[in-house]
Amino acid sequence: MFDAIVVGSGMSGGWVAKELTEKGLKTLVIERGRHVEHGSDYKDGLQPWELENYGMVPEDEADKDYFVQKRCYAFSTANQDFWVKDSDHPYTYPADKPFLWIRGYHLGGRSIMWGRQSYRMSPMDFESNAKDGHGNDWPIRYEDLKPWYDHVEKFAGISGSKDGLPQLPDGEFLPAMAFTGTEVDFKKKLEAKWPTRKMIMGRAAHLTAVTPEQEELGRSTCQYRALCERGCSFGAYFSSLSATLPAAERTGNLTIVTDAIVHSVVYDPKTKKATGVRVIDAKTREGRTYEAKVIFLNASTIPTAQILLNSKSEAFPNGLANRSDAVGRYLMDHISLGAGGTYPGFEDRYHHGRRPNGFYIPRYRNVTEKAESFVRGFGYQGGIYRDNWRRGVNAPGVGAELKNNMRKPGPWQVRLTGFGEMLPRKENRVTIHQSNVDQWGMPIVNIDCGVGPNERAMLDQIGKDAREMLESAGATNIGVATYYGGLGLGIHEMGTAHMGKDPTKSVLNKYNQAHDVPNLFITDGSAMASGGCQNPSLTYMAMSARGAHYAAEFLKEGRI
Ligand SMILES: Cc1cc2nc3c(=O)[nH]c(=O)nc-3n(C[C@H](O)[C@H](O)[C@H](O)COP(=O)(O)OP(=O)(O)OC[C@H]3O[C@@H](n4cnc5c(N)ncnc54)[C@H](O)[C@@H]3O)c2cc1C
Ligand code: SF4
Repeated sequence: MFDAIVVGSGMSGGWVAKELTEKGLKTLVIERGRHVEHGSDYKDGLQPWELENYGMVPEDEADKDYFVQKRCYAFSTANQDFWVKDSDHPYTYPADKPFLWIRGYHLGGRSIMWGRQSYRMSPMDFESNAKDGHGNDWPIRYEDLKPWYDHVEKFAGISGSKDGLPQLPDGEFLPAMAFTGTEVDFKKKLEAKWPTRKMIMGRAAHLTAVTPEQEELGRSTCQYRALCERGCSFGAYFSSLSATLPAAERTGNLTIVTDAIVHSVVYDPKTKKATGVRVIDAKTREGRTYEAKVIFLNASTIPTAQILLNSKSEAFPNGLANRSDAVGRYLMDHISLGAGGTYPGFEDRYHHGRRPNGFYIPRYRNVTEKAESFVRGFGYQGGIYRDNWRRGVNAPGVGAELKNNMRKPGPWQVRLTGFGEMLPRKENRVTIHQSNVDQWGMPIVNIDCGVGPNERAMLDQIGKDAREMLESAGATNIGVATYYGGLGLGIHEMGTAHMGKDPTKSVLNKYNQAHDVPNLFITDGSAMASGGCQNPSLTYMAMSARGAHYAAEFLKEGRI
């Protein structure tokens, strides 16, 4: 019997494991995927020409086995084994509502491949449901999470600048990365024309300086190589493998089992508590059970809902902790749309190194500029880089002349991608098929999730504003995506077991504790009652540290 079980070793599970083990709890982390060794299992030491097919996964293989994952920008032969084989992991969606579910099943989860953009949600974000009536009100406010944001930022290492913006609270930052000269020019032009639109350096989970604790864990400063999605042997960006799991390991209180798929949570109707989890061995397909006093689900939003819905009993015929019927519902992602163009001037300049980060234009719609046709808002991630030889792939010309041209740097290219908040809607949901199971006997999920008029109006505005900002800076060859890539591609799924004040409408209380099962906690993206427009993982980290704190307290006090 363990004190605690944590299901999933990704971004949020790693944090729970660290916090619980540091509080002295004997903790078992159960991970469905294989073991990944930090450092030796990464291909970040290979040059482009040393990678299979220069990094490109052959089309027929991608079409056959990675037909969803290949849509992710970070998918390549440099990290192919960090993505699930879609052919092995089926799920369904209605024909008119494709949901592109981007995932990785291995130790560390998607904390290895993530884009590292790290922003706090703001007081406004925690109040939005209550104010405009969409979704259910959060049971916490920004002030409840603020100390936990401080806590996780200090440990993880987030580089960024303090900008004093109410819609994007400042934090405990390491030195910010630098703008390129062209970006400084764009910032000046943008802020001169729209004084309340700000352009800041991206806040990213990269070590631009190292604390003694980070050094002790074997982490060092970022080398500006931009090879991050392969895993970083310097441990220079935050991941479960570089930071939280090693911290948990050194306490002596951590046990990890890999290749173990959690099938369901075991519930005891007499004690009204969860007693453990049923697991299917990924290799032998044999079943076994692990027991603990407290269970954390951190399998990420969709699998967490799948596990709950699959944990049926007489007491919970519709799935564990689901008396509210909210499990699986209110699924959200961030909607996104890209724009770009050629940036004028600066032909005599080049950038130094390969900065693994861009700039950020925090939300201004419905903050300082009213939007007429939608509620909530969006922010832009962007960058301005000088084109390199790769532009030759689409350039006209042949032979020596083409090669000589490609030896010179190309023009500066500016890119803006807007990320917008999606409303929490009950009908956007994950369900499980009763009889359609995968090769391990796990019921497969159906994802029925679509955008509504608010998201469509917002996408329209993202495109219009991007064009206007690029035009006003003098960019040419401006292109704005006319086609929205689809839900899932934001890779920010959340909301399927949300926190709320009312147990008849929500799954978790203000401690991330299930209303219906006191020793069950959920601190991955499922817990989100709304999504803001900021990249959400920092919020999952803060919720995880906070949830682990309360679980340990309640255990000590004998309340669970
Ligand atoms: C390319 C890319 C770029 C991204 N960029 C950003 C960004 O810039 N900023 C940001 O905030 N977020 C970003 N994200 C999203 C971020 O990675 C996720 O929000 C985050 O990893 C979610 O954490 P999690 O713990 O919920 O899930 P994960 O990190 O996905 O971990 C879940 C773990 O649970 C395991 N698991 C699943 N089911 C079971 C089961 N039944 N039994 C046992 N184990 C199970 C999985 O194998 C996995 O290891 C990005 C993601 C990707 C892929
Ligand atoms: S850019 Fe920094 S974090 Fe990314 S792979 Fe290189 S050293 Fe690691």
